[in-house]
Amino acid sequence: MIPFLDLKAVNMKRAAELENAFARVLESGWYIRGKEVEEFEKEFAGYCGAGHCVGVANGLDALSLILRAYKELGKLQDGDEVIVPANTYIATILSITANNLVPVLAEPDDRSFNLDAAGVREKLSARTKAVMPVHLYGQTADMAGINALAKEKGLLVIEDAAQAHGAEDNGKRAGALGHAAGFSFYPGKNLGALGDAGAVTTNDAELAAVVRALANYGSHKKYENVYQGVNSRLDEVQAALLRVKLKYLDDEILERRAAADFYLSRIANPGVVLPQVKDTQAHVWHLFVIRHKNRDALQKALAEKGIQTLIHYPVPPHKQRAYAAWNGLSLPVTERIHDQVLSLPLWPGMTEEQQSAVAQAVDSAA
Ligand SMILES: *Cc1c(COP(=O)(O)O)cnc(C)c1O
Repeated sequence: MIPFLDLKAVNMKRAAELENAFARVLESGWYIRGKEVEEFEKEFAGYCGAGHCVGVANGLDALSLILRAYKELGKLQDGDEVIVPANTYIATILSITANNLVPVLAEPDDRSFNLDAAGVREKLSARTKAVMPVHLYGQTADMAGINALAKEKGLLVIEDAAQAHGAEDNGKRAGALGHAAGFSFYPGKNLGALGDAGAVTTNDAELAAVVRALANYGSHKKYENVYQGVNSRLDEVQAALLRVKLKYLDDEILERRAAADFYLSRIANPGVVLPQVKDTQAHVWHLFVIRHKNRDALQKALAEKGIQTLIHYPVPPHKQRAYAAWNGLSLPVTERIHDQVLSLPLWPGMTEEQQSAVAQAVDSAA
């Protein structure tokens, strides 16, 4: 049996260091807003090449708090439109509707799965105030094109970088490619905590300060509440664990790349469309996503050989009950992607034997 992801193996490889990090926090007697979070924020901002990092409770909150902070700063108002790719994970959209902003669903580029400038341009209106590209599966969106258009139109650019820790666009890392970025450290992400965690990165000091206050009951200073904030803090234990994991992120990205290169060179099934790799973008392979017209049959054939695959994602946000008002929308590119995508097993530490078995099984399927 080949699992989709062997998360236990990924984390057990660092067991001694993770246990030390936990012990350090336990013995410190200090569990919220302390030294570990402060150090992790510095380290992760440095890693991304961003001026500031604010640890928060999860990736959804990271995105949501960025939008909320722009509202507090007067840069966004209720009813403003935010252009977002229609084929994203629903969290991206939830962050927008939770703030009384209007998501405008744009079709992605069919080959890269990502939003590009042409897709944004099609959806521009007088109410457009922001664009939220998602670096889906670990490859950055067309940021050069999107940033140029955003500059021309005066739009905010907020990256959903939840799947793209370490991914690069023309030599710059995700998290420093727009005005602000939201990261998730959900355990299965490329930089994963041992629980929920997230972060905001930005070069805008004022925005970072407002996000930090909003995430801490709206308070910059204890018992002085400037905003009606929330409690969405990264805790010391997760920060300490993330500091260990961050040290190995680049090595793990190299392992993911080697695994992706193996699949790219081995899989030859003519019915399979392999993922596109752009040479201006350094892909970090959060997911290795192929396409096939008979996706469900292919998934079944692989399952019969003991190979676990997943679908990211089976139902697009506009077809969910949560957004019933959009259920009648027609987004053919997005809908075709959802019908055809299949994510193959890939994790740092996956053996060549395991990969070989996956490639062979894909090739021997119809
Ligand atoms: C995981 C993910 C999120 C949400 O992150 P959580 O930490 O689970 O809240 C948002 N957007 C995308 C694209 C994701 O993959």
